[in-house]
Amino acid sequence: MSAGRSGGGAGTADAPAVVWFRDDLRVADNPALRAAADSGRPVLCLFVFDEESAGIRPLGGAARWWLHHSLAALADDLGQRGAPLIIRRGPAQRVVADVLREAGAAAVFWNRRYGGAERRIDEAIKSAARAAGMEATSFAANLLFEPWTIRTGSGTPFSVYTPFWRACLAAPPPRKPLPAPRELRRASPVDGDALDDLGLLPTAPDWAGGLREAWEPGEKAARRRLVEFLDEDVARYRDDRDTPGIAATSRLSPRLRWGELSPHEVWHATAEARDQTNAAGASAFVSELGWREFAHHTLYEHPDLATVNIHREYDSFPWPRLHPAALRAWHQGRTGIPLVDAGMRELWTTGIMHNRVRMVVASFLVKNLLVDWRRGEQWFWDTLVDADAANNPFNWQWVAGSGADAAPYFRVFNPELQRTKFDPHGDYVRRWVPEWDTGDYPEPIVDLAETRRAALAAFDVVKKAR
Ligand code: FAD
Repeated sequence: MSAGRSGGGAGTADAPAVVWFRDDLRVADNPALRAAADSGRPVLCLFVFDEESAGIRPLGGAARWWLHHSLAALADDLGQRGAPLIIRRGPAQRVVADVLREAGAAAVFWNRRYGGAERRIDEAIKSAARAAGMEATSFAANLLFEPWTIRTGSGTPFSVYTPFWRACLAAPPPRKPLPAPRELRRASPVDGDALDDLGLLPTAPDWAGGLREAWEPGEKAARRRLVEFLDEDVARYRDDRDTPGIAATSRLSPRLRWGELSPHEVWHATAEARDQTNAAGASAFVSELGWREFAHHTLYEHPDLATVNIHREYDSFPWPRLHPAALRAWHQGRTGIPLVDAGMRELWTTGIMHNRVRMVVASFLVKNLLVDWRRGEQWFWDTLVDADAANNPFNWQWVAGSGADAAPYFRVFNPELQRTKFDPHGDYVRRWVPEWDTGDYPEPIVDLAETRRAALAAFDVVKKAR
């Protein structure tokens, strides 16, 4: 990589600073963007759509839909501040090097990501840019606590949530959010690809109607929802967060996944909104952000989280031969178990599923249908708008019993008891499975008690491997 082209050149004040956007599609509380603005240099904003680099997991369909719209919103916001967003497709190492060279950049800034392949790519780019005489700096922006700063007394990472979160709360508190830069110095443009040419939207067929109805991606809508949640819902969050028929949770997960909001902004806004009437809800909400931290710190320590059991004795779990019809029934929400079917249909239609129901459908797949958790993880990866490289596999391993601080394997959710407990009036089930109490609803595809016994027998093999 070599810096400079005619005219500019890394040494001059007119050589631009490049901001490389990734999982941080926002202008507020964006330390990389802030650093570029504060450098006084012209600012070139870049997004690289990378499906080619080794180890990068291609996005699922719902995530691609979200990305398209979130990038459009970001491009709009940046454009209004004077800096167009350049979009390019290709392996990040090559594309970033090309852009830095073509722009004659003096500096490149980005906010950190925590997956294994992503870190390797970022390190290689940083070394190459520095070797070429450029400034290359990465920032903490997408987690409240950097993974290497939270350690047990003996210096190891935590494997249990409660002491982990206690250590986080005892650490220096997350910094205050940074304001969005009002104006950015415009850099001479370099070529980019049109957003539409990335082909992120489904066309044949266009299955995204339900997503369009449910969501408005982008930072502005994200902030509106944060304010609305803190004004209207957080007070009842602790009591109602497990009831899928009530819209009591924040629905901020895709916003955090794509970085339309920073966790710092959510943390501080929650602290500011906290009063006597909502303190219990606010604490419960913040501790869920703690689970997000824990999942990401776990990914940092276990880069193979989506494919390899954290507890390796689960490698000996005797998964029976897959029954494709059962997996299909689960995908389509036609298992004959009302809460499972409601959740799977909600997911397919809107790209999201209530947390309680995610636990139930996951437990049903792994422990009643005896399907390997990785198949469920992959389906969620493809269909969730918040599909996240840390939260998704972390939670699947949690449900399966193989993960960090996981539910013990022998705790098999009974989806019928879960329904009577958490959806006692059937509001949620009826919304997604209208035929449920019309007599037109099929019998369960498996016997819950029998499959539970089979799962526990299979688990004995794991126990013996310990
Ligand atoms: P709220 O209850 O309002 O919580 C606030 C925020 O805390 C969420 O937006 C999310 O960022 C974080 N959070 C809440 N619960 C968890 C959790 N268990 N683990 C990690 N972070 C959490 N969440 C994702 O963001 N992406 C995923 O791909 C994902 N896959 C999951 C798969 C399974 C099998 C299960 C059981 C859970 C999964 N979750 C995932 C966690 C959780 O279900 C969602 O974060 C939550 O339902 C999102 O709704 P909300 O924003 O209204 O959450």
